[in-house]
Amino acid sequence: MTQVKINNKFVNKFRNGYPHLFKEAIVDIDQLQEEGTIIDLVDQHDQFIGRGYYGRQNKGYGWLLTNDKDEKINQSFFIQKISAALARRSNFFASQVTTAFRVFNGEGDGIGGLTIDYYADYFLMTFYSDGIYQFKEIIVNAIQQLTVCKAIYEKKRFDTGGKYIDDDDFVTGERANFPIIIKENGIHFAVDLNDGPMTGLFLDQREVRQRILDQYAAGKTVLNTFSYTGAFSVYATMGGAEKTVSVDLANRSLPKTIEQFQVNDLDYTKHEIRTMDVFNYFNYAVKKQLTFDLVILDPPSFARSKKRTFSVAKDYVSLLTDAIAMTKDQGVIVASTNFSGFNIEKFKQMITKAFREVGEQYQFVETFQLPEDFRYHPQFEEGNYLKVVFIKKVANH
Ligand code: SAH
Repeated sequence: MTQVKINNKFVNKFRNGYPHLFKEAIVDIDQLQEEGTIIDLVDQHDQFIGRGYYGRQNKGYGWLLTNDKDEKINQSFFIQKISAALARRSNFFASQVTTAFRVFNGEGDGIGGLTIDYYADYFLMTFYSDGIYQFKEIIVNAIQQLTVCKAIYEKKRFDTGGKYIDDDDFVTGERANFPIIIKENGIHFAVDLNDGPMTGLFLDQREVRQRILDQYAAGKTVLNTFSYTGAFSVYATMGGAEKTVSVDLANRSLPKTIEQFQVNDLDYTKHEIRTMDVFNYFNYAVKKQLTFDLVILDPPSFARSKKRTFSVAKDYVSLLTDAIAMTKDQGVIVASTNFSGFNIEKFKQMITKAFREVGEQYQFVETFQLPEDFRYHPQFEEGNYLKVVFIKKVANH
């Protein structure tokens, strides 16, 4: 155990349960040496504030786990947190129509740096620092003790020289024969927990996808940009869309999107799946005067392609101005971002700016943020990262 002195300014913040240990809060950063060390935060009189662990995650140095001086960070601590998280999701486990969801969401469930997802009897742990990775065995034991599970897989999302290490993600149990088919709102998805950093489906957009199916798809033409495996296109098609166009520059997107259509018995040949840069597609669509009833924008926070880098913070307004041009009057844009650097108010301001720039009228129709299984910590706003705004383009008169 190491004592870490906290800068006076921030002592109350941590006493009140703020979970994220950031650099400016720490008086002597050099004393932190080995990731995974249990640390006691103390004030300038060496009075106990809270206990946590040291782990480097982006700009962070670890997470506070308890403000109780007598609480030990051991196997029973992890069992208690994970079992509380499982209990909170009992309605998800009971669902017949949804078999993939988040079981444990980092600091929202009491342990920053760790998430656990459930994919139809398989569990996927994601470790966001080498520090939390030191607790892997304890976490695996807890999952095995508390659940019925066929196997456990892992993702290591921490600094390994800037590159995702694509090694075997199998941890324990009986190996799955991937892809496995999970259900979400009764729709099928092929997922693979042992093929790179992503699984084939982003679980946090479940409610947005369902909303598109229910309210926005019937009889419509849909442009799905940054489409990945085409999950939005599949939902729109299930909701009666006339046609979907999915655009993603990654080569894997084409076969993966075809697969998602096929596991739902949908004829993918009635749809377009394009392997290309979204911005090139926009140029092409403008030339061909293509417009759509529904345009979905769900870019990554940062992306580097051969010709350009895209960053949500710098480039979302111009992405929107392109999208507005491609949207029919009375059409709808679904603007989404998972960038944690600004909140939904700021995001709406960016949308307003884009519509002003092109001189078009709009209405905010509805917004979505994280679903219930992606529980977040009330004092850690960055954890509430998802922002999805449905915007209607209204005619200029
Ligand atoms: N909207 C998707 C998730 C997007 S993940 C879903 O709902 O499942 C981000 C995707 O953007 C990745 O598949 C990546 O290949 C793609 N991408 C990044 N930059 C791009 C660009 N300039 N043009 C097209 N696709 C891009």
